[in-house]
Amino acid sequence: MRIYNTLTRKKEALKAERGKKLSLFVCGITPYDFAHLGHARTYVVFDAFVKYLRNSGYKVFYLQNVTDVDDKIIKRAKEGKQTWKTVSTRFEKEYLKDMGGLGVNSVSKYARATENIPEIISQVKRLLHKGYAYEIPGDGIYYDISKFQSYGKLARRTKEQSDDAVSRIDESIQKRNKGDFALWKLEPSAKTDFAHPTWPSPWGRGRPGWHIEDTAITEKYFGPQYDIHGGGRDLMFPHHEAETAQMEAISGKKLLARFWMHSGFLTIGGEKMSKSLGNFIAIQDFLKNHSPRVLRLLFLKTHYRSPIDYSEKLILQTKQELERIDEFVGKLHETRSMKRETKKRFKLQASRFTLHASYFMKALEDDFNTPKAIAVVFDLIRKVNPLLSRNALSRKETKEILAFLHEMDKIFGFIFAKQKISAVPNEIKKLLVQREQYREQKLWNKADELRKKLLAKGWLIEDTPSGPKLKKTV
Ligand code: AMP
Repeated sequence: MRIYNTLTRKKEALKAERGKKLSLFVCGITPYDFAHLGHARTYVVFDAFVKYLRNSGYKVFYLQNVTDVDDKIIKRAKEGKQTWKTVSTRFEKEYLKDMGGLGVNSVSKYARATENIPEIISQVKRLLHKGYAYEIPGDGIYYDISKFQSYGKLARRTKEQSDDAVSRIDESIQKRNKGDFALWKLEPSAKTDFAHPTWPSPWGRGRPGWHIEDTAITEKYFGPQYDIHGGGRDLMFPHHEAETAQMEAISGKKLLARFWMHSGFLTIGGEKMSKSLGNFIAIQDFLKNHSPRVLRLLFLKTHYRSPIDYSEKLILQTKQELERIDEFVGKLHETRSMKRETKKRFKLQASRFTLHASYFMKALEDDFNTPKAIAVVFDLIRKVNPLLSRNALSRKETKEILAFLHEMDKIFGFIFAKQKISAVPNEIKKLLVQREQYREQKLWNKADELRKKLLAKGWLIEDTPSGPKLKKTV
């Protein structure tokens, strides 16, 4: 497989051995509020990517950090008169709930910053020892970006541009260079309170800077070098640049990560969806009105590096696409459960189906081109639908297509409806019973009409050996 590497700005062969461990780190959240659809995009993309790799035989260890010590958490804790731990625990739980709702279940390990303080202190010590860091008494330990020759190599920034940090800048007038960043923030003991955590260190009580937790965590689990580092494109600079500078300075080894993958933004009206701009939709609010399948398809039908502009129109269009898939799956189930004698003999040309499977894999092998792979699914629907309406697909072929869709859905997670139904409305139950009667009388057209009617009402029938099963669709 080939992946676009931000570091080289080229697609490169992954060259990893199947069956051997592949290490992937993706920057996690700062749990101070509910996660929004922008977060969802990045995490759905990497979830599908990991599932694809695992499905292709790679043993992926997928690590994600949780930035559970941060200015924003402290601020939120103070406002709510809660401890920092209460805030971070609450929103970490909400995040995990959201990820569960979205079917994001591929992460091997979530590692909290506050549970890796000794590892963080050890890295700061080594950076000081090697001359890459300096202390500003009473303020903190800073990384001197002028000491790292290749600072700016990832974001392709010159030394001057490197001074032009855009997020979570560590302000101090005593810094050697404007772009220097805090590794350890010293805090007077008076600052330590319920909302504001500090830890002892060789330089005094304090807390870690933003970038150091990631390298401390990845060094602990992967060592100084690993395979793939991912995150949203906003993190490329200064965050990922700083990570590289820290770890490569400590270890003397190049590169921190062989591949750097950056996902595009979810925008709204052309602007990045974000908390600070106030233009966000919380994942939980979205899921109150829509199925998680809508989001997974919406995110994956665009290439992961391209931006997606969120709109109601896009949601509607995506729902219609899902309805097409549902209808197709419904018809396949129906065909599979038909009595043998009612079927005409017909063979789907083997090559046509095999070709779809191979196009699908080829698309994903090329920098995880999910829109191309999804186009293969719709092409299959287009080609098979006329055969289904002529009742001209054998049971075997139907089963093969369903098996193929199930394989794809291990990666995508939007093809098959998964919700459990607690209560099926009476009206729906009646339609189901009526359809069964039509089927017993071999009135297939009438049965099919009712299946469509149920689908229009949001219920998909799956015919199984133990009888028909209903699933709620989008
Ligand atoms: P944050 O908590 O803001 O550091 O974000 C956590 C992850 O979500 C990072 O990888 C961000 O790049 C990503 N992210 C945040 N907002 C968006 C967005 N609007 N579109 C895509 N990814 C985003």
